[in-house]
Amino acid sequence: MMLFVLILGVNAGLIAFNISLGQIEAKIGFRADQGTGARKFTYLPVQSSQKVREARISRSPDEESLASTPDTFRLSGGYLEGKEVRTLHLTVQSSLTFSVCRIVSEDQCRGLAVRIARQLSWFLDVDREIRKGDKVALIYQSLPAGPELKILKLDYVSGFLHKTLAMNFFKTAEMNYGSYFDNRGNEMISRLDSRSSPIRNYSEITALPGEHRRGSGTGHAGTDFKAEVGTPVYSSFAGRVTRANWNTKRNGYCIEIDHPDKGVKTLYLHLDRVLVRPGQWVGQGMQIGLSGNTGRSYAPHLHYEIKSRDRKKTVYNPFLFKYHKKYSRTISNRHRKEFDKVIRLYDSLLTAG
Ligand SMILES: [Zn+2]
Repeated sequence: MMLFVLILGVNAGLIAFNISLGQIEAKIGFRADQGTGARKFTYLPVQSSQKVREARISRSPDEESLASTPDTFRLSGGYLEGKEVRTLHLTVQSSLTFSVCRIVSEDQCRGLAVRIARQLSWFLDVDREIRKGDKVALIYQSLPAGPELKILKLDYVSGFLHKTLAMNFFKTAEMNYGSYFDNRGNEMISRLDSRSSPIRNYSEITALPGEHRRGSGTGHAGTDFKAEVGTPVYSSFAGRVTRANWNTKRNGYCIEIDHPDKGVKTLYLHLDRVLVRPGQWVGQGMQIGLSGNTGRSYAPHLHYEIKSRDRKKTVYNPFLFKYHKKYSRTISNRHRKEFDKVIRLYDSLLTAG
């Protein structure tokens, strides 16, 4: 049962929403920032006894002009405790980056556009299929450590593909890290089967092969798994270690393994520790090192690369490589209620924004 109560404090331009979704409770304060035209929302924890039961609504004169600007929320209580989130609604103009940067501040907009594109890259060809007129509705959060951003909810309406994507971030107590699920509770981003996965405990994939970086013409060759320093790294397949720790200035501590029966070599870069040596045979799933942040790396992650043995410039996306089995998860009945509440909370935030 959802309860919305709106209050507008005339002088402060303050609107408070009280969202009650079973155990998820958050009070949203709304402050119109006259100078920038940005809307700032403040979430404050509320006890059920303090539920606001009155509603006094009046409209500020500049509300009209605020309609197309981003909203800033501050949340506490429920799943988003103490974390500031923003909502964003936009229609794609000449490009996704251009459209995001028209609305979001310069220091964040490129990073945010990259993140939106990365999420979409699981479902569409971002270079060709993002089109003018597509619609984006987004809830995201700036993380305390620097310019990091996290997408909590992404709705995307693709005119070209005639489809709508809805991705919802959700985490149960059993998961080390959350993931993205559709509205029915099916995980939308695949995972590599643990027998062949180079890493099992990672928070997210932060780059896929082919993703372009500024100043690099060829695009990223590997898949980046964001993971804490010291996370075990495994050999994806059986093979022989051909190299370790070459070009440490760029790759950091690193390993290359040859898999003649698969026609590929696999590379594991930016490690904290290497536990194998060149010439050594390793079995599939054998631990070969610990992930790290060495070499040219800006945040702890594992760079995993699958290279063709014959065609030097060919690299494979592990999620499309035939020897990597994949799976995805489904929200179990046990977590269904909790999941549905989060979906409703996201929807209410987007509606409020
Ligand atoms: Zn990488």
